[in-house]
Amino acid sequence: MSEDYCTIADGVKPPEADGPPYAECVLCREPTEYPESYKGITLCPVCEWQEAQRTACSG
Ligand SMILES: [Zn+2]
Repeated sequence: MSEDYCTIADGVKPPEADGPPYAECVLCREPTEYPESYKGITLCPVCEWQEAQRTACSG
């Protein structure tokens, strides 16, 4: 059992904002790297990383 390392799939990334206003993280309300006009779920780097960890190795 040495399958601890899971490669995180390279999904389509939303565009990064050039500057404020940034969209809020849907989880912790911290500013994200996404423009406020971005339609969709916006996560800050921290929550994004945690979500990736959670989903990458599930199952
Ligand atoms: Zn967050």
